[in-house]
Amino acid sequence: MPTFHECQRCTACCRWPGQVKLSEEEISEIAKYLKLSEEAFIQSHTRLNTSRTGLALMDKPNGECIFLDGDLCRIQPVKPQQCRDFPNLWNFPGFEKSCQSVPIELNDEDYLQRIFEATGRRLELPSIRKDFQ
Ligand code: SF4
Ligand code: SF4
Repeated sequence: MPTFHECQRCTACCRWPGQVKLSEEEISEIAKYLKLSEEAFIQSHTRLNTSRTGLALMDKPNGECIFLDGDLCRIQPVKPQQCRDFPNLWNFPGFEKSCQSVPIELNDEDYLQRIFEATGRRLELPSIRKDFQ
């Protein structure tokens, strides 16, 4: 049975070092949500990603994501796909030590439904196994 990792909203993944990459579509969506022009949003909230191939969210001086406000994400309804996909569709060895998500074994149908609710992606098991695991 597949294992779904249920987020406990501990916000550790919004605080640890790394980068949240942005697609052009996400830039438009977030700028619109914040009622900013895309140019203003890019200037005030983004930086070049480390491979210089696109943009990523800016960090605060303490390393947290610029959109973390206490324990809340200021752009929750339009947060980037990278944030939605962790930890179920991408993670790293030993992530369980830093992430408080609870592993739950589900039947295939319930697992795919929970993946959809968490990530917005309607996926099938073979494609998850091929593309994300
Ligand atoms: S955009 Fe929101 S969910 Fe993503 S890292 Fe920043 S605060 Fe966390
Ligand atoms: S995915 Fe993990 S680290 Fe991120 S908020 Fe949820 S429980 Fe915390």
